[in-house]
This record gives sequence, C-alpha cells and structure tokens, in this order.
Amino acid sequence: MYDLVIIGGGPAGLTAGIYAQRARLNTILIEKQMVGGQIAVSDVIENYPGFPSISGAGLMEKFEEHAKGLGLKISFMDVENITLDGNVKVLKTSEGELRAKAVIVATGARPRRLGVPGEKELTGKGVSYCATCDGPFFRGQRVMVVGGGDTAVKEAVYLSRLAAKVYVVHRRDKFRAEKMHMEKAEATQNIEFLCSHVLKEIKAENGVVTKAVVEDLKGSAIKDIEVEGVFIFVGINPTTDFVDADKDASGFIKTNARMETSVPGIFAAGDCRTTPLLQVATAVGDGAIAAAMAEEYIEGF
Ligand code: NAP
Repeated sequence: MYDLVIIGGGPAGLTAGIYAQRARLNTILIEKQMVGGQIAVSDVIENYPGFPSISGAGLMEKFEEHAKGLGLKISFMDVENITLDGNVKVLKTSEGELRAKAVIVATGARPRRLGVPGEKELTGKGVSYCATCDGPFFRGQRVMVVGGGDTAVKEAVYLSRLAAKVYVVHRRDKFRAEKMHMEKAEATQNIEFLCSHVLKEIKAENGVVTKAVVEDLKGSAIKDIEVEGVFIFVGINPTTDFVDADKDASGFIKTNARMETSVPGIFAAGDCRTTPLLQVATAVGDGAIAAAMAEEYIEGF
C-alpha cells in the first residue's frame, strides 16, 4: 500500500510529488497521457516568478526533472474511480488496483466545447483547442479565435505570428484577460477584434474548415468570415468525474484552505478545485499545501 497516490502530473501534482518525496512518503504519481498538464502546451509563460519568459513545456520539464531527481515514481494509467475500504483509498485504474492511505487529486481541467454546429465534426480538420499544437498548420492562413479570457487573447497573439490574419470573436465588449495580454494583442497589426459577436456555425468544404458564421449582437447581422482555422478558448471543465467528493455547480472539487475535500484523506490541488485564480503559481502553492496536509493525515492514519 502506498502512503500517497497523486493523480495528475501538472504543476500541482509535480509540486505535491516534490514535497512528498522530501517528506519520505512512499508515493506514486499517476498520469493519464503526458506529464506537464495543460500548461505544457502554452507557448510562453511570463508570470511564473524566477522565469521572466519560458515555454510551458520548458518549465514543466524543469518541474519533472526536479521531482524525478528526488526519486518520484511516475506511472501512466487512467483512474476510473476511488472507493473506500475503511479509511484506505482504493483506486480502480486501467492497470489494476492501487491502495493508498491518502490521495491528492491534481487532474486539472480540459478545454470547454462551444457546442456550435460544425465544431465536433471539424475538430482536427480546422477546429482546434490548442494553438501551440495546431497553430503551425495555419502558417500564412486566416484563423478565428473565440473567447475573451487569458487563453484566447494570449493564444491570439501567438497565432498572429504564424497566421496572416487572426479574428478574435468575443461575446462582450469587455475582456477578462490580463491587461498585459490585451496590450500586446491590441498592438498586433494582424489581429482584428470582433466584440459583441458570437460564433454561430463553422462551415466546411471537402471536409475542412472554410468559413465561420458570426452574429453581431448589436444589430443581429449575421455574416460569413472566410477562415481556415477556428480556435476555441471559452474556458475549462475540470477532470473530476471519477472522484466522489463535494463539487461546485461546474464540477470543480470543493476544498478548504488545507486542500482537504469532503472525504478525509482525499485532497485536491490546482485547476480541478474551486479556486479564484488558475495559474501555475497558485497550482504550485496548492500542491505544496496538499502534500504537507497529506503528510499530517498519514502520520495519524
Ligand atoms: P476564462 O477565463 O474562463 O475565459 C473564458 C472566455 O470564454 C470568457 O471571455 C468568456 O466570456 C468566454 N466564453 C465562455 N463561454 C462562452 C460561450 N458559450 N460563448 C462565447 N464565449 C464564451 O477561460 P481561459 O481563458 O481558458 O482561462 C482559464 C483560467 O486560466 C483563467 O483563470 C485564466 O486567468 C487562466 N490563464 C492564465 C493565463 C496567463 O497567462 N496568466 C493564460 C491562460 C489561462 P465572458 O468573458 O463573457 O464570460
């Protein structure tokens, strides 16, 4: 039986792993696909202290090296559910059962779908949720970015370096993105903002995106815009279905300041929990707290 199973290898999970190794807990970190989490596909990170500018993948490599250097065991498997056998946590995974005294859920979140006609069928054929993964396919072409948060505005700037033209479609006049991201986007020649506009439909010819249908909410005019790519950045959904702990209306796990969930011995950290700020810096703090509180819990197990 493990002392601690950490589920998720993003900033929160890897930080929890570093703290757990230093506390000499018998720990395993399990990850579904790729260590690094969502941030690993971010082009550039400019607000993580100590690194004025570093790629998401570069920063996460450093986290992973640090954790592995301390001997953290990392395995790839998918967790289906967590049940309790007394106070032992039993994880049903794609590779069999794991038992642990404590669990830290650090599974993060994945991009939210918009739900417009054409979106699902054309994903991978011009519709994308990851600019660093798919941006290079649109070199010299026209793309549309949907959303008004940090991801949309930041990725629009990144895409503007590859694409000939970037339309940013946002449903309001006011953006929630950080001011520094906005300033960069507004100063970029080939970005055109379509505020108070919504994407209604994505159209294709021969199976690839050719047009985006947008509606101007101030006047109700509907028009087709010719684009080869549509990048959707309208927020995130937490990856928490497999956990039976109290959650908020959007599915984020509720915790207290000690990262404790409603189930004793199950902790949550990072983007998968209800938190006012989703940043690498805050996920790191969550991971450190969760590991320290898990250590305390394990001592009294
Ligand atoms: P977000 O902050 O939740 O923004 C989502 C955007 O999508 C909002 O502008 C929202 O519009 C719009 N939206 C949501 N549903 C929509 C719909 N059905 N139709 C049209 N538009 C819709 O999500 P995010 O940008 O992915 O960021 C997630 C978190 O990560 C945030 O906390 C963010 O600060 C953080 N993050 C930080 C950085 C950084 O560099 N600091 C980078 C990326 C992400 P409204 O504004 O009208 O609600």
